[in-house]
Amino acid sequence: MPNIDQLSARAIADGVRNGVWSATEVAQAQLDATVARDQGVNAFLEITYDLALKTAAETDRLRAAGAKLGPLAGVPVAFKDNLNMVGSHTTCGSRMLQYFDSPYTATCVQRLIDAGATPLGKTNMDEFAFGSSTESSHFGPTHNPWETNHVPGGSSGGSAAAVAAGEATVALGSDTGGSIRQPASFCGVVGLKPTYGAVSRYGVVAFGSSLDQVGPMARSVEDVALVMNALTGAGKDPRDTTSQDVPVDFLEHLEDPIEGRRVGVVPAMMEAEGLSPEMRHAMYEARCALEDQGAELVEVDLPSLAAAISAYYVIGPCEAFSNLARFDGVRYGYQEPGCATLAEQTSLSRAHGFGAEAKRRQLLGAYLLASGVYDEYYMPALEARTLITEDYRAAFEQCDVLLMPVVPRTAFWHGEMSNPTDMYLSDLFTISSNIAGNGSISVPLGLGRDTKMPISAQLQAAPFRDRTLLTFARALERARGTAGWVAPAFGGREGRLS
Ligand code: GLN
Repeated sequence: MPNIDQLSARAIADGVRNGVWSATEVAQAQLDATVARDQGVNAFLEITYDLALKTAAETDRLRAAGAKLGPLAGVPVAFKDNLNMVGSHTTCGSRMLQYFDSPYTATCVQRLIDAGATPLGKTNMDEFAFGSSTESSHFGPTHNPWETNHVPGGSSGGSAAAVAAGEATVALGSDTGGSIRQPASFCGVVGLKPTYGAVSRYGVVAFGSSLDQVGPMARSVEDVALVMNALTGAGKDPRDTTSQDVPVDFLEHLEDPIEGRRVGVVPAMMEAEGLSPEMRHAMYEARCALEDQGAELVEVDLPSLAAAISAYYVIGPCEAFSNLARFDGVRYGYQEPGCATLAEQTSLSRAHGFGAEAKRRQLLGAYLLASGVYDEYYMPALEARTLITEDYRAAFEQCDVLLMPVVPRTAFWHGEMSNPTDMYLSDLFTISSNIAGNGSISVPLGLGRDTKMPISAQLQAAPFRDRTLLTFARALERARGTAGWVAPAFGGREGRLS
């Protein structure tokens, strides 16, 4: 069979269904590549070798028995380590959950397995998904496959790096404030944050319950569409009350022309402080690529967007404080040995189980929710949320999608962002769609002309218009020739210079 990293999910599944190769052959080829490549990347926290081979063997047995195989038959998939999967740990990149066995399987994981996917294992992440670099994992940082002294982004950095290095065909991540799109852009892969409610979160370790959403990462828009079909095809999940029916085929309008359709651009964003010149240039090229295909550009305004970071870093920590209260050193996770009292046990288990950023977020949340403080921060943050959502609503009356950067600049060096506030400020363009709940996607454009690192554009659409996002993302991908990108050090071809 061809080199595993040269195959799309669709090609793998077609090959398995038609008997060109077996799911076991695919799994073995992928596992060999994954084990070898991951030494330099550290994208995986756990490779579920036996589970992968057992699942693949079952797929082959079903085929031999004449069963109809699913759309992801034999496709090697990796899962962020905040998604429960029986037969694996779910550590959330934390000492707190280092030895935590998944007690059940998350719906998103199960649906991919039901569609025939082969589960390769669990990927590295910032501790409890707090961060933008995957440096805060208790199990060491992940390296960017394009340049290993750079970060892969975060918090789903392991998932993005795994896909970019050809260590998995597709991966799932979670996005509370950019954690799918930002690492996807740093690693040159496609990453979709679906609309809030489109994908079940049953079995996902919660960070910010009003913001969290699970979504796919892949080396092409088409593969993202294929995974979305598997995630949503069975309808809403009765085990997650926020989950909704998404009765669309994401593959259906992928190649539609975008001629005459409207793309919104926000002039103020191009003036944003910290936006690198190469990023500005790449955004200009993205505009041209859409215009060349007949799209009409319209200028729109999102006046309340300036409040998004402040609102997010209030709402996020408040919800995180509440969600992470369950890690009490009694029922879950790390338990400090030899304590005389329950209070001591809880306090020391939390003190030694959580890393610095996880503590910072929870302390911040505890403070912001205190009486007297609450009215001053939490309520205004909710008001800002309403205004931002209203801005989006007005903007999407004028355009089908918004085009904007994912991040102000390409991947940074390990250790470069030592000040947490600098890291927070880099979330400028991603968090507003978590606040408003609409879908957004990161799609590779090429390499930055100065840094020679992957550079991406972000598209956003109105809630439950995620399929429209994929149509425009495909138009960009087509123009830029980025489908199927694998980082060069891992056998891929050089990306096209922007
Ligand atoms: N960088 C953001 C944060 O640290 C996003 C995290 C996420 O989406 N999980 O909160």
